[in-house]
Amino acid sequence: MKRFSRRKEDFVCEHCGAEVSGSGYTNHCPKCLYSKHVDVMPGDRAEECHGMMRPIGIEMTRDGYIIEHQCEKCGVVKRNKANENDNFEELLHLARSQVDKLKKC
Ligand SMILES: [Zn+2]
Ligand SMILES: [Zn+2]
Repeated sequence: MKRFSRRKEDFVCEHCGAEVSGSGYTNHCPKCLYSKHVDVMPGDRAEECHGMMRPIGIEMTRDGYIIEHQCEKCGVVKRNKANENDNFEELLHLARSQVDKLKKC
């Protein structure tokens, strides 16, 4: 049985196919952390690019993690707050790949 309610902003991740139940402001997949370029201002869904946004970096703040996403279509970089139910392994992976990048510079 499929219990996939469409009341909020549920969506199917176009990167990994996970069914994501939206919390109202969720804008990325908690499994692979991909997002989609749909906002000009956070939450407005006014962007027409609709490219997939790849997680490229992570930042730790007092309020939690901030994920940096880069649009694969137009290249814009946006920062999004990580959610509590985001895949921690992916967050760690992101943090590690970021450290590797820094080392190479
Ligand atoms: Zn996904
Ligand atoms: Zn874009």
